[in-house]
Amino acid sequence: MATATPPASRGPGPAQVRQTQLFIDGQWVPARSGRTFATVNPATEEPIADVAEGDAADIEAAVKAARAAFDEGPWPRMDARERGRLMHRLCDLIEAEIDDLAALESLDNGKPVADARAIDIPLAVQCLRYYAGWADKIQGSTIPINGNYHCYTRREPVGVVGQVIPWNFPILMVAWKWGPALAAGCTIVMKPAEQTPLTCLRLARLAQKAGIPDGVINVVPGYGPTAGAALVNHPGIDKIAFTGSGETARIIMRQAATSLKRLTFELGGKSPNIVFADADLDAAVAGAHVGIHLNQGQCCCAGSRLFVEDSIHDAFVERVVELSRKRRVGDPFHPDTEQGPQVDKAQFDKILGFIEAGKREGATCATGGKRHGTKGFFIEPTVFTNVSDSMSIAREEIFGPVLSVLRFKDSDELIRRANATDFGLAAAVWTRDVARAHDVARRLRAGTVWVNCYDVFDAAAPFGGFKQSGFGRELGERGLDPYLETKTVTVSLAPPGRG
Ligand code: NAP
Ligand code: MG
Repeated sequence: MATATPPASRGPGPAQVRQTQLFIDGQWVPARSGRTFATVNPATEEPIADVAEGDAADIEAAVKAARAAFDEGPWPRMDARERGRLMHRLCDLIEAEIDDLAALESLDNGKPVADARAIDIPLAVQCLRYYAGWADKIQGSTIPINGNYHCYTRREPVGVVGQVIPWNFPILMVAWKWGPALAAGCTIVMKPAEQTPLTCLRLARLAQKAGIPDGVINVVPGYGPTAGAALVNHPGIDKIAFTGSGETARIIMRQAATSLKRLTFELGGKSPNIVFADADLDAAVAGAHVGIHLNQGQCCCAGSRLFVEDSIHDAFVERVVELSRKRRVGDPFHPDTEQGPQVDKAQFDKILGFIEAGKREGATCATGGKRHGTKGFFIEPTVFTNVSDSMSIAREEIFGPVLSVLRFKDSDELIRRANATDFGLAAAVWTRDVARAHDVARRLRAGTVWVNCYDVFDAAAPFGGFKQSGFGRELGERGLDPYLETKTVTVSLAPPGRG
């Protein structure tokens, strides 16, 4: 693969970082324990800044603030239009700082700064503006029940929400979580991922600047088993929204059972990307490439199982391999870079472990297959051919730039194999046959099916998983539901004394 200007050390340094403390009740405070942890630049393996490390005591303070803001504060009570207006103002501030925010995101996460600027931040703003528009459109209905009654429903905020997010799309995950919660009138305690706390803190600063009242948004960076678990266990939290691994989701589900918290989960995937011989092959090659490699392969909806119809298999795969070979890996701050480093050493090691397993289990490593360079967590874009369904690289979520190519002959066999996974987040089908496209879309057990495209996201379109890819939906009108309770009010219309 091509290299875009080593070493990976350009771009902004620690001067870029302004917020490193906890944000609780509108105040920037150190952790009560006084502890901090280093957040690391994955392109250089060097620390960027020390960030306050929240734990149970800080979560306690944050929940108290969010509880007061919900139970007595202005946020759920204000004119809904005003909530929307403040959310739009936050978006204006994000747009005004887009270059800074993109640089900070790239520094902390390793993604190409051009992607952060062109993809992550615009999608985040779109999401926040979309939900700002919902703020004054949340309404109940009147229901014609039996008898002399006036029955109606109200849709009320679910309360204080705990939001735990991962490191793959830090800014975007904040928007997906804050957007519907703020529109609904909820208050928030958020724990960003330990790897990428910086942009979440910056967004909290912008929310404060926008005029969102103190206590509505609280951000407590820290570790999952301490800060995260304290949030999940806290009786003052009404709902947990979590994005991350199934393993952590299982822990959260068990812990949240104590107080029967509402839960929504966005988890992983092993999404099938299916190419029929009659497809527009140029588009499908590009879709196969982006489908796996976008964001260094760190996408929950990555098209990591590429099913290619037998008759075109060899020629098609050759083109996919060629594109991977040419992918420019390197300094995330170089404008030509297409792929940066993986987020941290743990992910880097895990991905290399899967690559070794693929080789051991007998798949052919057609390109890539090892570390790129000697510094930073870079991995070569990797394509495995001759993969069989039972290999670990065909079954498990790798969460890296590693594609497994599988061959198929007929549609029924294909659907069975595509669905033979515990996951069900996304899928894609490439064909010019309209009937087949809709038929396959209907038969795939996945929350999103793309036809002749991949990774098309819009704030208005719901996203979420079937099976072990999660439950509940984010985005769109469906994404508001988990942040709302429905209250039924039944009023007797009998005149007084005759009821
Ligand atoms: P993870 O552990 O599930 O992390 C996601 C978030 O949950 C982080 O903020 C994490 O905190 C927090 N967390 C961890 N343990 C917790 C607990 N007991 N209670 C409450 N919160 C807790 O994921 P990971 O370890 O970063 O990545 C592992 C794998 O998960 C990846 O290889 C990938 O397969 C999958 N993943 C999926 C997504 C997705 O978008 N669906 C995103 C990221 C990762 P820490 O910062 O301390 O970890
Ligand atoms: Mg973790």
